Amino acid sequence: MSTIIAERAAAKPANLTNATFAEIAQILREQESFLVLSHVRPDGDALGSEIAMGLSLERMGKKVKVWNEEGLLEKFSFFPGGEMVTLPPNEPEHFDVVLALDTATRQRLGDNCLAAVASTKVWLNIDHHASNPRYGDLNHIDSTAPATGQILFEFLQSQKLPLDKAIAENLFAAISTDTGSFQYPQTTARTFEIAADILRCGIDVGRLSQQLYESYPRRRIELLRVLLDSMRFDAGGKVASFSLPIATANALGVIPEDNEGLIDHLRAIQGVVIAIFFEELNDGKIRVSMRSKDERADVCAICLSFKGGGHKLAAGARVPGTLEDVGERVIAEAVRSVESLDR
Ligand code: 5GP
Ligand code: MN
Repeated sequence: MSTIIAERAAAKPANLTNATFAEIAQILREQESFLVLSHVRPDGDALGSEIAMGLSLERMGKKVKVWNEEGLLEKFSFFPGGEMVTLPPNEPEHFDVVLALDTATRQRLGDNCLAAVASTKVWLNIDHHASNPRYGDLNHIDSTAPATGQILFEFLQSQKLPLDKAIAENLFAAISTDTGSFQYPQTTARTFEIAADILRCGIDVGRLSQQLYESYPRRRIELLRVLLDSMRFDAGGKVASFSLPIATANALGVIPEDNEGLIDHLRAIQGVVIAIFFEELNDGKIRVSMRSKDERADVCAICLSFKGGGHKLAAGARVPGTLEDVGERVIAEAVRSVESLDR
């Protein structure tokens, strides 16, 4: 066991304080075999962070695997180093270190990924979700960061770990997607400074942004057409929602990754404070995705009450029930939340 791991294990409750970047870097330097994980239904921050960390470890000469419960999504297949991402294997494996990135709860790493970890010396948990319960042996949770990719950039740069153009492209994709192209309120001066440093690594921001935002499959826009047809407003237009029955998804031939970001069309409407997207899943649950434009209308709090989580302005949950039933219950909470703003 490395000294850091031993000291941390002895100093209870170690996991309540953030491990420093230096402590994490020491573990990376001392250990040999690594597994990098992120959440189910991965977004750009999840996969960009996973690949960036995987590439950096590989450049350090480490043995590294990068898994995701859904593998590499088609729409992110252009990420350099994307071929590192695989589905978890059927036979469990041992790793010196498992790194969970951008993942608010351990369960969101996915059942198959979790089952394929036979054993590990230490779990590292690096994330920017305030609701993260610090499930690692060592945790670095920074809820002021708008993206896990931003934390990783600061980590790699400050610890002088490998950070080349391919890694920078993945981190740019992570930060750009999680900040809504540098628009969300958590975007800070530091975010722009980091973006500038990333550009100095030689990335082509125009090409990358075109691949991220102007290369959608047509079926995604066909789906948007149908969703807008189901659009509903509550609380005098402060709550907007639309929903996707599984039969519609099947008829259009859409895949789960197609609908990410469509909720932004609801959020973009003047007067809307909370936007909600309901998606019927094939396990009897409804995936609820929520966005808020006002920190006082805290959608993380609403999602926590439905056993989900996330951030104040972007959160989600998977709720057992039908579209109608879950829809009514969640919309009622959203209406309550926006109406309390007027009081
Ligand atoms: P999205 O709506 O894009 O799926 O998720 C928005 C945010 O909420 C993300 O940061 C994501 O991590 C979090 N989130 C989404 N679904 C769930 C869920 O079922 N459980 C938890 N704990 N967080 C979720
Ligand atoms: Mn994120």
